[in-house]
Amino acid sequence: YDLEHFVLPTHYEKDLQRVLVPYGLIRDRVSKLAQMIAAECENPLVACCVLKGAHGFFAHLMEDLKKQKNRRGESIPLRLEFIKVKSYENDQSTGNVTISLSEEDMQAFKGKDLLIVEDIVDTGKTMVALIERLKQYNPASIRVVSLLLKKTDRSNKYVPDYVGFAIPDLFVVGYCLDYNEHFRDLDHIAVISDHGKTAYAE
Ligand code: 5GP
Ligand code: MG
Ligand code: MG
Repeated sequence: YDLEHFVLPTHYEKDLQRVLVPYGLIRDRVSKLAQMIAAECENPLVACCVLKGAHGFFAHLMEDLKKQKNRRGESIPLRLEFIKVKSYENDQSTGNVTISLSEEDMQAFKGKDLLIVEDIVDTGKTMVALIERLKQYNPASIRVVSLLLKKTDRSNKYVPDYVGFAIPDLFVVGYCLDYNEHFRDLDHIAVISDHGKTAYAE
């Protein structure tokens, strides 16, 4: 084995400045988030994965939630939904949030407890827009879990119900978070280097 392979893939050697949150630490925190969510669960949950960035987080969170019990000691019925949201070009928020979801799937949200599963909250614009949109379908409740919350003065002050890690104001990639569709295949959450930004700019 090439041991370095387990640290950073060689194809991203020059493209990363440093690892911010290693995979093992992410997994531990995801399990903890599942415990916290389960403890406050009363009813079946409709878990909505915000694609594509939250896909890895969502998969692990659902895996961990299936092992959890609610306060009454019951396992938690889960329904899985997938919403595609896009608001970024390169590493800049455009402020225009495009949400793709099927009308039929959204109608089924009526009276349900929704758990929105997001990768990262930066300015908060995406989450505020998404929550507004989902409210139109009259769910019983909407809660949001975001793996990352960026500490930034561009924030609209929106804070998710559950957060994995608060991170500095840097553009991060990995664990399914992308830069122009690159770096989703990196296990760890890392800070992109100037070389990486140039190499994968569009
Ligand atoms: P917001 O609307 O809160 O500014 O941005 C939310 C969305 O922008 C996130 O769901 C994510 O897709 C993208 N985003 C924000 N910050 C970052 C970042 O540091 N890295 C990556 N890869 N995406 C980000
Ligand atoms: Mg996202
Ligand atoms: Mg993205």
